[in-house]
Amino acid sequence: MTTPTETQPNALIDDFGRRVDYVRLSVTDRCDFRCVYCMSENMEFLPKPQVLTLEELYQVAESFSSLGVKKIRLTGGEPLVRRGVMELIRAIGKLPVDQVITTNGSQLTRLAGQLRDAGVSRLNISLDSLQADRFHRLTRSDRLQQVLDGIDAAREAGFERIKLNAVIMKGRNDDEVLDLVEYARDNALDISFIEEMPLGGITEHDRAEAYCSSDEVMALIEQRHPLIATTERTAGPSRYYRMSDSDSRIGFISPHSHNFCSECNRVRVTVEGRLLLCLGNEHSVDLRQVMRANPGNAELLRQTIIDSMALKPERHWFDLDEEPQILRFMNMTGG
Ligand code: SAM
Ligand code: SF4
Repeated sequence: MTTPTETQPNALIDDFGRRVDYVRLSVTDRCDFRCVYCMSENMEFLPKPQVLTLEELYQVAESFSSLGVKKIRLTGGEPLVRRGVMELIRAIGKLPVDQVITTNGSQLTRLAGQLRDAGVSRLNISLDSLQADRFHRLTRSDRLQQVLDGIDAAREAGFERIKLNAVIMKGRNDDEVLDLVEYARDNALDISFIEEMPLGGITEHDRAEAYCSSDEVMALIEQRHPLIATTERTAGPSRYYRMSDSDSRIGFISPHSHNFCSECNRVRVTVEGRLLLCLGNEHSVDLRQVMRANPGNAELLRQTIIDSMALKPERHWFDLDEEPQILRFMNMTGG
């Protein structure tokens, strides 16, 4: 993969004065799970020519890094099922960025050590249930134990501040909030609870009916553990709380109940190379077209990214009564 260009800090500032220093890069739309809130059961995945090559993904990462981006999160789909992904991760590991990964955990027993050696600094691991049958219903896969073993492998590989992500849905897993908190406490993990977002049309459940607000989740936790608000941030939308008797942090990602757009510092790139300026809007720029029509023209790619900042909308407007608002599924968007 090519050598990095010189960094040009502060190049990415949008029309609302927000500095973009965080990119979420989707490296595949494919996944070994089919979580009910993320995918339909019979997903059609992209044909290979439409997907960015590993080299193109690196070019995108390198361009953002040279424009002052400090943090790159690899996501998907399941990033760790993309063939050759370790090569990309090792190359990005040489850029002056904090490389982090969001994963469903299914490949970690195999890859945790290699990820650590490649310089990945932190992992977010999704876990919505600790009950095997329910895990199966929610993810349409029966690999709970593999994920739990993967979490252990990540800790043994030396990853610190591993964060669990749990999407909480009423009547489906809201009765497990306290169990998930205990699991996080017992294993020295952080945990963030996420409100489900209306991305992609799903038939499995009614999102409005299943909606469980962060305030409701917080009230469930406070039945046992009083929460102390903190000002800690991790360059993401989580609001963090602590407990007096544990090092674990509890975060809440609340796209519905606590709008976080005014502090937005990030953009997303889909695996087709579409630079999305906002999770909840369709404003985008086609980086794949720029790269394929102008091979090797790094300057044009950088200028396209700089110019795209003018398209970043002020905020998203999610409304659960009008779903799906965004026809993209989360695996296309890069969660
Ligand atoms: N496969 C990896 C994983 O599951 O962690 C990475 C991609 S996944 C799309 C990233 C995150 O998005 C996961 O934590 C998942 O729970 C969350 N997610 C997916 N669909 C969602 C939705 N409709 N609303 C809220 N969160 C969602
Ligand atoms: Fe796959 Fe992650 Fe989507 Fe679940 S949330 S289907 S693990 S991409």
